[in-house]
Amino acid sequence: MTRIKSVRARVWNWTGPTVPPSGNFCSNASDALWDKGDAMSSFRFHQWLTCEVETEDGTIGIGNAALAPTVVKKAIDDWYAALVIGEDPFDYAYIWEKMYRRTHAWGRRGIGMTAISAIDIAIWDLMGKLTGKPVFKLLGGRTKEKIPVYYSKLYAGPVETMQAEAEAALKQGYQGFKSRFGYGPKDGMSGMRENLKRVEALREVIGYDRDLMLEAYMGWNLDYTRRMLPKLEKYEPRWLEEPVIADDIRGYAELNKGPIPISGGEHEFGLLGCAQLLQSGAVSVLQYDTNRVGGVTAAQKINAVAEAHQVPVIPHAGQMHNYHLTMANLNCPISEYFPVFDVEVGNELFYYIFDGEPVARDGYLQLDDDTPGLGISISDKHLENFEVME
Ligand SMILES: [Mg+2]
Repeated sequence: MTRIKSVRARVWNWTGPTVPPSGNFCSNASDALWDKGDAMSSFRFHQWLTCEVETEDGTIGIGNAALAPTVVKKAIDDWYAALVIGEDPFDYAYIWEKMYRRTHAWGRRGIGMTAISAIDIAIWDLMGKLTGKPVFKLLGGRTKEKIPVYYSKLYAGPVETMQAEAEAALKQGYQGFKSRFGYGPKDGMSGMRENLKRVEALREVIGYDRDLMLEAYMGWNLDYTRRMLPKLEKYEPRWLEEPVIADDIRGYAELNKGPIPISGGEHEFGLLGCAQLLQSGAVSVLQYDTNRVGGVTAAQKINAVAEAHQVPVIPHAGQMHNYHLTMANLNCPISEYFPVFDVEVGNELFYYIFDGEPVARDGYLQLDDDTPGLGISISDKHLENFEVME
């Protein structure tokens, strides 16, 4: 048996070139504050956290998180590291409960659960490396030959630009496409028309035999969404994602009674948070992110609850920790996939931090049966574009 000897959290601050954001490229929760500042500023993430958990024999498991990395690092350094050092990584369920219960008063959501997630993912990577097995083989194994992915970008912009992007993605073989709304309640009726114009333009390109997902990123409210849903129906979206803020579970549940499936969960935390979404009928598609929801240990439990509610799980953001869970669960039919691009909002950063992230081909991606752990390593190829904080 080998025990955990250290936990190293690092923040990766991107200082390299970025694509400048255009106005109205994605509605978001700060839109409600539009008349007093930059509503888009909360929609850029140019920092990431890596968490390396090392055992006495020198094996290193890698976890990561992307929410408030500098604060999560502080939480790991000051609180969580001491709770896991000295433990056997294969006691992962006990370690998880220890992290959760010892910090329960302040850590069960937000920063605390994100720190728990990063450490838990690293522990699963570690268990894979120590057993010589890929993580998905420890979770139930291969439930599909390969993972179908949907193209997740298509930020709101000029109609022709969005159509050209969809056309290019179509040629690459994707069967599903997700686009972001640029307009919300502050933009009135004319903004509604701008939103609808873009949905129609995308259907023109991809037709009606492929999936179109629509995302508001919490930038709408209940009243606005009630008015938009009937207008969107004829475009047959596979789902409408996060129309209202994450805490408005009653709002989700009301909207989800309509003909358009409502999705969400990427800002929900923990087994009981996700169970509440499911029990309330708030979502038709659950989209937790493993590096926020409580890591692989929590995600597997949530998968079981979701399956019992007949709600598919399509984790937020792609990335290896989500792909392994998707491969190992029949109730995870497809994966979100952020295509490799220059750094824009920051969703792309993990391609610059890690080696081994799979790249989609013809709308699918593959995990290797023989690569132990998650199959990623920390890259040194782009170090000149990062300021790394120890
Ligand atoms: Mg989303």
